[in-house]
Amino acid sequence: MSDIRLENLTRTYGEARAVDSISLQIEEGEFYSLLGPSGCGKSTTLRMVAGFVRPSAGRILLGGQDVTMMPPEHRDIGIVFQNYAIFPHMNVADNIAFGLKLRRQSRSEIERAVSNALDQVGLAGFEDRFQRNLSGGQQQRVALARVLVTRPRILLLDEPLSALDKALREEMKFWIKSLQQRLGITTIYVTHDQDEALTMSDRIGVMRAGRIEQSGTPAEIYEEPATVFVTSFIGQSNLLAATCLDVSGGHASADLAGTALKAEAAQGVARGASALLAVRPENVLMGAEAEAAGVPLMDAKITGETYQGAMLRYRLDLGGQEVVAERQNQVHLERWNIGATVKIGWTPRRARLLPAG
Ligand code: ADP
Repeated sequence: MSDIRLENLTRTYGEARAVDSISLQIEEGEFYSLLGPSGCGKSTTLRMVAGFVRPSAGRILLGGQDVTMMPPEHRDIGIVFQNYAIFPHMNVADNIAFGLKLRRQSRSEIERAVSNALDQVGLAGFEDRFQRNLSGGQQQRVALARVLVTRPRILLLDEPLSALDKALREEMKFWIKSLQQRLGITTIYVTHDQDEALTMSDRIGVMRAGRIEQSGTPAEIYEEPATVFVTSFIGQSNLLAATCLDVSGGHASADLAGTALKAEAAQGVARGASALLAVRPENVLMGAEAEAAGVPLMDAKITGETYQGAMLRYRLDLGGQEVVAERQNQVHLERWNIGATVKIGWTPRRARLLPAG
């Protein structure tokens, strides 16, 4: 078994709580990302799972076994960091064989394992190359092969793509995900990049100040963010000051500048209290599209337009609050001049009412 269980995992440095009582269950074969801004405790969490950092409190269980106090080399874990850390004075084959030689395996066993690992990462034929003759992406594949060759039950990846340029990062994103699926290896992936987390993960834990603020599938995190922090950290969102008129069973109605609107309700929203209505720019309907949708309509004034090729971005004034709307640039796109008044609205399922502050 290779599931991961964290129980009230905590790490303090003096007064500071780098990781603050995280409890989490990651299933066998799952790709779980820890996502959050710099300094929120992602790496410290990962290093505790690896065994490089000793927890101040809490427990870590791997496959049901308590490993909290176990040294890293006995945990059966593979870890890859941002800067590939492959040995420059060794060729690819020797780099990959390094861990196996330490384990005193026979020469033929090692050769077979190295060749197998190179196949897995798509680098068969690269055995004799040195670091200076490998691209960044290839070096990162070697680093992965070097880890996979020891057949770890758990794979930990700490910002493995952040040293690569954008095009390579895109390619490696899909490549790592498909490798992980093929191997079915339980994986924790640390990143501050929401696109990486959304495209690669089975589930994401959004971290803030040492805690996991929300844990869920990419769609849950994006479409049903639990807090204002998660809403604004993942993608973009309009956050409009509103008053909650009523709430029950996950649905709410709210007053937004005199218009009563229905919305999905996040935890903590209370009747009569001020709240924030979150609507993503791509969900703001304008003009004929809004009227055809049969949703409550509001008058807004166009204050700006940005041409982005595939997209047009409008800034609107809605009763003194700014609303950003994104339209796909299709052939028959309705367009407006700055200063024009236009009807806007959105589907209630695409709006979320969040507790303010
Ligand atoms: P992230 O990976 O999300 O950027 P880290 O886990 O590296 O965040 O750090 C979390 C917090 O713990 C930060 O405020 C950081 O300064 C602090 N921290 C991490 N390692 C140490 C250390 N060895 N000594 C003191 N503070 C540390």
